[in-house]
Amino acid sequence: MQTDCDRFSKCALLGALHGAAAWSAYAVVEFVFSSILFRIFRPYAVFTAWHWQLTAELLIAYIVTGAIAGGLAGAAVWLLHRNPRLLGNKDGPAVLEAAAGLTLVAAFAANIAATPTSPSGKHFLLAVSGAFALAFVASMRSSRWSERFALLTNPWIVSGLLLGVGQLFGMFELEDVAQQMGAKFALWLVALIVLLILTAGGAILLGGRVRRIARRRATLFAPSWAALAFAVLLIPASAVLADAKPPQADELPVAAGSTRPNLLVIVMDTVRADHMSIYGYKRDTTPNLKKLAADSVLYTNAVSPSNFTLTSHASLFTGMYASWHGAYCDPPDSSYGRALSPETPTLAEVLSHNGYEAFGVSANMYLRPEFGLQRGFHEFDIPRPIPVLDPGAWYMLRRGVRREIGLVADASQFDRLYSRGQDIDTEFLGMLDRNAGGPQPFFAFVNYMDAHFPYIPPSPFDREFPGKLRGVAQDDLEAVQQKVVNGSEMPAADYRHAISQYDGGIAYTDAAIGRLIDWLKQHHRYDNTMIVVTSDHGEAFGEKHYVLHANSEYQNLLHVALLIKYPKEAARGVVNTPVSLIDVMPTALTSLGLPVPGALQGQNLLDTAALRGRRELFSEGFACPVVQPPGCPADGCTQRAIVAWPYKYIDANTGRRALYDIAADPDENRNLMALDPTVSDRLAAALNAWVKTMPARARQHPRVNSESLQRLKSLGYVQ
Ligand SMILES: [Zn+2]
Repeated sequence: MQTDCDRFSKCALLGALHGAAAWSAYAVVEFVFSSILFRIFRPYAVFTAWHWQLTAELLIAYIVTGAIAGGLAGAAVWLLHRNPRLLGNKDGPAVLEAAAGLTLVAAFAANIAATPTSPSGKHFLLAVSGAFALAFVASMRSSRWSERFALLTNPWIVSGLLLGVGQLFGMFELEDVAQQMGAKFALWLVALIVLLILTAGGAILLGGRVRRIARRRATLFAPSWAALAFAVLLIPASAVLADAKPPQADELPVAAGSTRPNLLVIVMDTVRADHMSIYGYKRDTTPNLKKLAADSVLYTNAVSPSNFTLTSHASLFTGMYASWHGAYCDPPDSSYGRALSPETPTLAEVLSHNGYEAFGVSANMYLRPEFGLQRGFHEFDIPRPIPVLDPGAWYMLRRGVRREIGLVADASQFDRLYSRGQDIDTEFLGMLDRNAGGPQPFFAFVNYMDAHFPYIPPSPFDREFPGKLRGVAQDDLEAVQQKVVNGSEMPAADYRHAISQYDGGIAYTDAAIGRLIDWLKQHHRYDNTMIVVTSDHGEAFGEKHYVLHANSEYQNLLHVALLIKYPKEAARGVVNTPVSLIDVMPTALTSLGLPVPGALQGQNLLDTAALRGRRELFSEGFACPVVQPPGCPADGCTQRAIVAWPYKYIDANTGRRALYDIAADPDENRNLMALDPTVSDRLAAALNAWVKTMPARARQHPRVNSESLQRLKSLGYVQ
């Protein structure tokens, strides 16, 4: 071997440099595939500040890992180089180059092999990695092969081919994008295949010639050094982009704006009432709502008409129960949910017809137009971020590198797939600035998903409440949840972790809401705005072996927040009478001085005389594609519940019936079916009578396209 690797330290150092360069080249190519191509295929997706921050963290991790792996490879080369049968290539730098490249390909293959599932292309990609490994080994053993493979083993080519093949298999699965882009998609697919074949073939054919022309080895390797430089430059660029602040809007004039009251409806997705400090929770998760509650009516026993985002929002927006408005999971044709019945008027439609400017922002994909919940809004946005770990890109080495980052720093934000409260607020405050200054009153809607699985509140909210475990990724928590559903108890540490992060997510949402309230106060819109804060459903954490939501009618899913600040603070106090989300629309319309459509099933909550009488509330759970308990019938688990204070009776299609006194036993630990048959018979009869009044079948609506389904899958709604 030549002098380049004659000393151990020199050999290790050169190996480290080659490793850092090779892994940087991969990092840059991967960034192009994961972020740039993702954006090209999905023009609606946006780059967020946290995307850049995580990209910078990844680049640093790649350079450091590459240097360590290359250094170790250099040390191995030094140990082996005296044996010409093992390392016959006398060209020292070429051997180190190949050894560094080998570490990259080995890591890529190991990461794929560690994928717990078997996505299509897994074995093919392993075979391609194996072929590259052989090319690297051959290059180290003989200078003839080293020359022939000079181009094929270049880190840029290796990275491009490995990720290109991965992308190819990923594209076969991208039914959503394929439909959206139509013929253009097929063109991309063919272009990618041709490009891959030309690159591989060209690299093999031209390799030796290029090597002979570029006798000076450094010239050939220069692109990899460029990669290192590029990656190093991308780090501060990412950091600058991560720090970007939204522009501050000018203050709206006091005199402008409508004299008619505005309406702001805020949904804290997945927030159960008993985890909010306004309802007495031991951790102060909702300090801003406490302040708002001083000007509001706090409803302590609000019941959600369903346990699922789509269905509950539809009830909130129509004042009707699911079997009437029609937006619910209905397998097999509409497993992910049917759209809202077109004949059912929505709150936004009624308000728009009455001169309101209606606009909204949602983090949850179920507010997509296909489901009908955007009907009546003039402007509606669901900001969708470009993820750092796209669930479809299972083959990318960054999944493994994220684990590595988790050893030294917090890597929970890598699991983020949807907008966080800060992003939602930026978008929403922009809309308020554009729409709230005119002579028309406004109806504004906002949905936050920060308490939703995978429970990853941003810093410092992740540490606000004790219990966070280090290095827990979404996959880990999902594995625990599956065991719980199958009969295991939730391990105490995992439970504490999940709860601490869930509570942190609620506190983070509360802070986001605080910003909106501040905006209203600063812009003189607070007094004349009716503010409704609620949730669509709660969340289960292993109680009775249930996790997540959309699978039971227990109180952890049905007991939600309802806080209403009436215009000019017309009413204040605490109401313990049970109320429902279907009451929001009639209450809002009455408070805004507008007529209430006759068909609504909810009640005006300011009509205290009507509330005083005995009231029966209902809730329906449908067979949605979420983690269901074992023992569900083939067409899925469904449940119905009736609340007649203080009792709740549940009737599930598994045959299970239960009666609880939810005033005395809010956790529903004592089934009173046998103890109190008169009550259970009465409630069962009332529930059956209600079921008989249902329309035979809510009118059928257009099917939701598969692009929505794909996005819902990535939200974790699908197993
Ligand atoms: Zn939800």
